[in-house]
Amino acid sequence: MSITNIFPLRSVAQAASDRPLDEPPGSAATGKARLLIVDDVRENREILRRRFERHGYHATEASGGLEAIDLIERETFDLVLLDMMMPDIGGLEVLARIRSKFSPGILPVIMVTAKSQSEDVVEALNHGANDYITKPVDFSIALARVVTQIDRKRAEEKIQQMNDELSRTNEALEGRVADRTKDLVQANLQLRSEMEQREKSQANIVHLAHHDALTGLGNRLLFHKELNDAVAHRQRHGGDLAVLFIDLDGFKSINDTLGHGTGDSVLKHLATRMRNVLREGDKIGRLGGDEFAIIQFGNEHQAAALATRLIELTRVPFSVDNQRLVIGASIGIVVAQGDYQDSVQLLRAADLAMYRAKAAGRGRFQFFESEFDRQVQERRELEVSLRAVVDEDGLEIHYQPLINVLTGRISGFEALSRWEDPQRGFVPPSTFIPLAEEIGLIGIIGQRILERACAEAATWPGEITVAVNLSPAQFLTGHLISAVKGALAASGLPPSRLELEITESIFLQGSDANLAVLSELGRLGVKISMDDFGTGYSSLSYLRSFAFDKIKIDKSFIQDISTSESSIAIVRAVCGLARSFGASTTAEGVETDSQLDQIRAEGCTEVQGYFFSKPLPASEIPALLARLLPAPE
Ligand code: C2E
Ligand code: CA
Ligand code: CA
Repeated sequence: MSITNIFPLRSVAQAASDRPLDEPPGSAATGKARLLIVDDVRENREILRRRFERHGYHATEASGGLEAIDLIERETFDLVLLDMMMPDIGGLEVLARIRSKFSPGILPVIMVTAKSQSEDVVEALNHGANDYITKPVDFSIALARVVTQIDRKRAEEKIQQMNDELSRTNEALEGRVADRTKDLVQANLQLRSEMEQREKSQANIVHLAHHDALTGLGNRLLFHKELNDAVAHRQRHGGDLAVLFIDLDGFKSINDTLGHGTGDSVLKHLATRMRNVLREGDKIGRLGGDEFAIIQFGNEHQAAALATRLIELTRVPFSVDNQRLVIGASIGIVVAQGDYQDSVQLLRAADLAMYRAKAAGRGRFQFFESEFDRQVQERRELEVSLRAVVDEDGLEIHYQPLINVLTGRISGFEALSRWEDPQRGFVPPSTFIPLAEEIGLIGIIGQRILERACAEAATWPGEITVAVNLSPAQFLTGHLISAVKGALAASGLPPSRLELEITESIFLQGSDANLAVLSELGRLGVKISMDDFGTGYSSLSYLRSFAFDKIKIDKSFIQDISTSESSIAIVRAVCGLARSFGASTTAEGVETDSQLDQIRAEGCTEVQGYFFSKPLPASEIPALLARLLPAPE
């Protein structure tokens, strides 16, 4: 049995005992190592004490086991030399008591035994004795063993000290780690909250990108996505799918007259109303301005029912800032089927149908018909042809004479645009003029007609005038005045021989600016006629807002003048009014001599119509003039 098994820290112990043997190990407290020598034989212990003291140890004697235990309880020792055989209590018993309090590292015990007691030695070592020496004691052996044990103890103490220090450092380190961990946890929490924040604002951005801020409805982007999804779902699972395209009637005037704030409130309220009548699963989006669209999982009947409800609920007046506001809705509907299945086509078809609902008088719904597509296609082709004919300056002008009722002479001609298309044949101006207005060609068309009509008229005799129709869109180009001046200057036609025909519609939009242009034209010395009077809005106030030179009574009144009392009344009233303003009157569309008789009776000053002549090419005018101008008497 080896004692090294009891002390695992052998290398430290060895390191501590690298000191020469006769040099005593110092005690941490006194500098001297303190020994307790326990032996019942006084002589034995005295010899040992003296010899150890001589070697620089501090030694205390105990005469028996009990005294030794007592001393150990009261004082501090570095090592005990313990006799095995004692009369009061035996060495093993004392050892047991010591070990119940001190470990072999703290208080080493070296047993002193007789040679014959080898079994006891084994037991002592098993119970925590650090070493043993045999009697009679060989002091040099005893000293060597004591030195070893005390060195071991010192080393142990040092290790303990280092361990303590280590664990203190550890604690400090752990504290720092804990702090750091706390910091990390904190940073982690912050990071997480930042990430959540970012996710939230990300979601917010996505929401904003897909929603209309005013009404909270989905926007065009989201609607397209939802429609795509709905279409894909239908392709997989079948089922009904309708798209309703809603455009408000009269919303623009609320925006224009009461301001955008009021307009916005109306849109917001309306969005809520509409949302409330939708069934679960149906989708609504605001496509922009006053346009909304709905995806309905329903058939034709259900779509019609929904459209009816939507139109009704739009009509219910809105109260905004104590005002009662009334608007309406026009709705186009398409039901997915046949060629109309993908989202782009569906939305386009619903949009087209909506335009038809508007054109048919607003406040109604219209189902899409494939015919609409054909018409759109035709219109597109017409547009291409119109651009081409304008490019090559291929529009013609025909002239229709205006006859002075009193003299029976031709007083002038009205210039009317003519388009003879190689494929289509004659395209009436009532078709291509509105198209030209829409696609921005009216400016150039109008200018060419002015130039050509003035140039042609300059070749006609004496006082004969030329009348040119102006589109309201020409007033908006900003070039109208310079176009008129240019045409007059280039042709040399006196301004008094040019008449410009305008319609009531120029008083509807941008009327102040239009009126200013009209006055400017009047100042050039050209004549201004009010065309088609009696149609459209027919407000007499228009006649007061500008000093017209002529009022042209619309042909619809002339055509039923022989049958309709109210038409006679209107013709009579307009002639009387014009007379009072000092303006002349022209009856348009005179086709029969009885119409002529009646018009003459009402005091109309001028007539125009097939009864005298259809519009003619310029080349036929000289012959006509010769025929209708009576030879001088
Ligand atoms: P508008 O200014 O009222 O022109 C008179 C229209 O009545 C002409 O139709 C003419 O051909 C037609 N008309 C003349 N006499 C009779 C008649 O006895 N019976 C019937 N039923 N109709 C008669 P048109 O040439 O088809 O022109 C239609 C409209 O197109 C014109 O109506 C005018 O508003 C517009 N327009 C024609 N040329 C031009 C143009 O160069 N510029 C602009 N801005 N508009 C034009
Ligand atoms: Ca006219
Ligand atoms: Ca007319």
